[in-house]
Amino acid sequence: MTRVNHTKVAIIGGGAAGLMAAAALHETSHQPKIIIIEKNDSLGKKVIISGGGRCNLTTGLQNIKIILDKYPRGGKFLSSAMRQFPPVEVFKWFEAHGVPLKIETDQRVFPQSNNGHDVVQIFKKIFQNSSIQTLIKTKLINVKKHSSGFELILAGKAEPLIVNKLVLTTGGQAYRQTGSTGDGYAFAVSLGHSLTKLAPSLSALATKESWPKNIAGLSFANTKLAVKSKTAPTANGPILFTHQGISGPAVFALSSLMAYEKFSPEKPLSIVIDLFPDESANNLCDSLKKNIIVNLKKDWLNILSILIPRSFAQIINQELSLTGSKHAGEMGKKDLMKTAAWLKNIPLNIVARGGGDEFVTAGGINLKEVNPATMESKICPGLYLAGEILDIDGFTGGFNLQSAWATGHLAGISIAKINQS
Ligand SMILES: Cc1cc2nc3c(=O)[nH]c(=O)nc-3n(C[C@H](O)[C@H](O)[C@H](O)COP(=O)(O)OP(=O)(O)OC[C@H]3O[C@@H](n4cnc5c(N)ncnc54)[C@H](O)[C@@H]3O)c2cc1C
Repeated sequence: MTRVNHTKVAIIGGGAAGLMAAAALHETSHQPKIIIIEKNDSLGKKVIISGGGRCNLTTGLQNIKIILDKYPRGGKFLSSAMRQFPPVEVFKWFEAHGVPLKIETDQRVFPQSNNGHDVVQIFKKIFQNSSIQTLIKTKLINVKKHSSGFELILAGKAEPLIVNKLVLTTGGQAYRQTGSTGDGYAFAVSLGHSLTKLAPSLSALATKESWPKNIAGLSFANTKLAVKSKTAPTANGPILFTHQGISGPAVFALSSLMAYEKFSPEKPLSIVIDLFPDESANNLCDSLKKNIIVNLKKDWLNILSILIPRSFAQIINQELSLTGSKHAGEMGKKDLMKTAAWLKNIPLNIVARGGGDEFVTAGGINLKEVNPATMESKICPGLYLAGEILDIDGFTGGFNLQSAWATGHLAGISIAKINQS
């Protein structure tokens, strides 16, 4: 292996974590020679499509403890990285680099332009105006550790690339069409690391019941979902009924909390939805009763429509075997209570996750093997890991990109510090 005189750093993967690692390293120390290796034909593919193309790049929340609670896995490990580069600093960083941001009412942060390309453009500019080399359409296929560095085998290149430091930011294995195909797991394992169990997270859920498709597109802003399992995870927030079942922020959060639950069409997982988490069943029953008293002649479906849209009222009637054509005055107290109880406890059987459309991968490189203060491997000195390749995943709301920026930034400044000392 030929020795190099100056520190050569290879960053594998030009996604959020890799881009930020390169920028932070460059901005903290101009000494190292940085090479970004990206197999796609362009940088930041997933960043560009994130947030529906608007790029929800971080959160407006500021309390670090509350922020760390948004990570079902890896929150504790993230503490150092998050304190070094918290959402408020991420916000300032992007604005200082020419992209004005906005915080929406639900605390999600987006570029004012609502365009993810602007976020990636910042990095392209930094790289163009520096000696950072970007090798696109270049795939790492193998890596070997040597006493003073790493030998990288790149597809289609006759000569291996020799570097002193290696940053693995190859992401997880969600949305594989963006290039995140889990390659980095094998590289890390070949360098001595272990992997925790991988599972899809942040996905829609398919139900055994077919009635959701009759109200596909209907959403409720404030609901509570609960899984009927040993761990009994719950999630609050908006849900959306779909042709296959349910989706929306509360469903994504629940899918994240139940990432390792097993279920199938043969062995579904029972969940319940409370459409009125802030009301008791008795209160709901009373509202129905009050409405009936002044509308005795109205049909029952119209009365139900004071609580829920009529299309959904029809489903309740079906599910509870009530008669929609009945006059409201003919409904018994038992029927009203049954209806109220159902609205607070809608049973659904989950048979599958939304196929291949999960946003992130739960699980990854075992966090016990990585120094949380530097992102350097404890197993393989000179190797740094950042982003979704790690066993870290968060809820929707900008938390996954925030984790990628924060860990990428920490890896970058840690390498810069070594270089300066
Ligand atoms: C549809 C969608 C929407 C999302 N929206 C949001 C959102 O709004 N807010 C949010 O916070 N999070 C969002 N996420 C999650 C977030 O985008 C990811 O968690 C984050 O981008 C992960 O960054 P990363 O750098 O770790 O990995 P990635 O972005 O996956 O980057 C990894 C890169 O490594 C490259 N690579 C892999 N293997 C090799 C190899 N062998 N050689 C060379 N290059 C390689 C890949 O091509 C890829 O470019 C979304 C995810 C999806 C799928």
